[in-house]
Formats: sequence, structure tokens, C-alpha cells
Amino acid sequence: MDLYEYQGKQFFARFGIPVSRGEAVTTVDDAVAAAERIADYPVVVKAQVQVGGRGKAGGIKLADTADEVRTHASNILGMDIKGHTVEVVWIEQASDIAEEYYASFTLDRSAKKHLGMLSAQGGVEIEAVAEENPDAIAKIHVDPVDGLTEEATRQWVAAAQLNPQATGGAVDILQKLYNAYVDGDADLVEINPLILKPTGEVHALDAKVTLDGNSMFRHPDYETYEATQVRDEREQAAHEKGLQYVGLDGFVGVIANGAGLAMSTVDIVNQVGGEPANFLDIGGGASAEVMAGALEVINNDPKVRSIFINIFGGITKGEEVANGIVTALGRVQIDVPIVIRLDGTNADLGREILEPHLSDSLQMQPTMVDAARKVVELAGAGNQGGPR
Ligand code: GDP
Ligand code: MN
Repeated sequence: MDLYEYQGKQFFARFGIPVSRGEAVTTVDDAVAAAERIADYPVVVKAQVQVGGRGKAGGIKLADTADEVRTHASNILGMDIKGHTVEVVWIEQASDIAEEYYASFTLDRSAKKHLGMLSAQGGVEIEAVAEENPDAIAKIHVDPVDGLTEEATRQWVAAAQLNPQATGGAVDILQKLYNAYVDGDADLVEINPLILKPTGEVHALDAKVTLDGNSMFRHPDYETYEATQVRDEREQAAHEKGLQYVGLDGFVGVIANGAGLAMSTVDIVNQVGGEPANFLDIGGGASAEVMAGALEVINNDPKVRSIFINIFGGITKGEEVANGIVTALGRVQIDVPIVIRLDGTNADLGREILEPHLSDSLQMQPTMVDAARKVVELAGAGNQGGPR
């Protein structure tokens, strides 16, 4: 779950990270009223969209008076920033900036550790810093069992060569940021810029937070974040059906049971020259209802030219899966060819059930590679190479 900046700042504040006072509003009048409540001009009017570079796009403006707030808020509300329409603006007390830094925590899967990144070159996109001046980013790997000690944080801050004035504040914020990341079950927390004020305080001026949606059972209050998720139409429809779906740009619809198999399916479609239209995990079971829902979501995607159903029977037996597919196909009118690969527990029984229903537009293949090649061929694409 990706948070808007204002939600990220509210999240940070709970862990004691200093952020500016502000209010999120949706109308020009409310923006002016919020600025008057903050009372301490200048204030900043900030477009709330889940995309970076808002400043450059004209979505962040300083205002010295209520009239200026009115002007900026009316320009920014409704503005399009990289395909995202601004519906909410955040009004906050402006900060004086002496220096801009960058700080983040995320998971480094290959190292099996958390990765902290800190740079004295903040305010700009970190990808650009990583490209042009990689030495300017101080990295730290944190063993999740040991956690982040104050001593390690001090060394890390020293390595980043921040202004010595910022050391104390930075160590404090980074430890709180680590707590927010771990205790808040985040996948990413990023502050860019983390600022040093002329007065010597360190402060989070921006917030980018991605929370782990699977941790909702520990954080019932994350419902409010869930409610503001930005999804494309396909993702919204899939979400309402309880499917694990991620929209992609290709033309082969993918249905698989289990996230690992769904990912492998996406990979193999790519390897044989196809482009997946989506990632879709229907989970452990494969009831007719779930299968019909999955087929509907994929069938409503105009880019899809063929569909790959890749099922490995486990606790859910092959015959149950096959019956689910047959029933689902009876319910949903599918316009493109389908290729099925069914393996695992009682695959033979399942294939027997499917056999009488097979046709040019509903084919079955014995292996995953065969099925991938066939489904890509039926989409009118593919190559001769790929895995053997
Ligand atoms: P982003 O462009 O989407 O990453 O938005 P940010 O919140 O990071 O703001 C972009 C830039 O606007 C910052 O790097 C600052 O230079 C500037 N900015 C944002 N808030 C303030 C503020 O309170 N005071 C001043 N002086 N500049 C600000
Ligand atoms: Mn930023």
C-alpha cells in the first residue's frame, strides 16, 4: 500500500519523527482556511499524488498570504502530474532550509537484511545520485534480529558526511525511521529531503511510505490507507473479487495458483517471446467462482489476445480444479483462446475432465514451456528460442 505524502507524515509523526504542521484539503476554500489556522506564513501548498517530481511539475508552491494560497490551491487542485490528477492538497507551515539530505530504509532481499541509505545530496532523485555519484550514498545493512544500534547509526551518519551540525538530529531521526519501518511493517520509508534548518534542527520535509498490505491484521487502522489506494480499473475489479492481481502492459493473460507459480508463469511467457498482461494469483483453491472471477477480469482487458491458465494441484486436487475451470467457462463468455497446463495431485483425473471440452480456442499442453509457447503463438507473437 502506497501512502500519500500527508499520510506518510502522519505515519512518521506517530513514531516521533519531526514533520511540519499541516492539513490535507480538497477544496480551495478549505486550503485557505487551513492556511489561516496554521497562521504562520509562509505556508507550502503541496499536490498529493503518488509520484515524484511534484516540485518540478509545479505542484509545490510557497504562499506568503491567504490570497497566494487561494491562487496556488486553485492552480494545483485538478492539475495533472504525470497522469495523476491532483484531488488533495496538503497545506503545511513552510520550513527554512539550510541543507537537503536523503534517507531511506528498504529490504535488500539478496542480502537478507534491511538496507538503509543516507546521502548528503538530497532533494534530487536518488536514482540520479546513484548514477552520477554513487559514493555520495552511504549504505548500511541492518540484521533484522540485531536491529539498528545507536553506535551503528552514528558511524553511518559519519560515513554520509552530513554537516556536523546535523549529526545529533540525523541519528535520532534515523533510529525513529528504522522503528517506523520495522514496527509499522513498511516495505519502504523514504525522506527526501531530510532537511537541516538554519537553526540546527533536522526535519522530514517529504514522506514516501509503502506499507505491507499483508500486515493489516496487526494494524486495523491501516484500513484508512487501504481506502485511498490508487488502482487502475483492472486492479480495482480484481481487488473487489479478492484476487491478487497486478496489471502489466503485455497481451497474454496469466492465471496461476500460488504467487510463486504466477511469477514463474510471467517469466516463462516473457522467455518465449510473449508479454504478460498481468500477474494473477488465484490462491490455493481454484473454485469455479474464483476462476470465473479471474477470467472476467482478464477478459475485460482489451489488450489480452490469449490466456494462460497454469495450475499445479496440491491440496486442491486436479479434478476439483478441472471442474472449476469447466464451470467457470460455462459462466463467462471468453473472446480469446485459452491454453491450460494442469499438473500436480490427480492431474490425470483433471485432464480427463477437461478433455471433452477442448477445441481450437481451449487447448491443453503437457508442460509449462509447451503451454507458454502455445499461448504466445495463439496471441500471434513469439520466437523460436527460449527455454528448452
Ligand atoms: P517532490 O518534488 O515530489 O519530491 O516534493 P518535495 O516535498 O520533496 O518538495 C520538493 C522541493 O520543494 C524540496 O526539495 C524543497 O526544495 C522544496 N520545498 C518543499 N517544502 C518546502 C518548504 O517548506 N520550504 C522551502 N523553502 N522549500 C520547500
Ligand atoms: Mn521529495
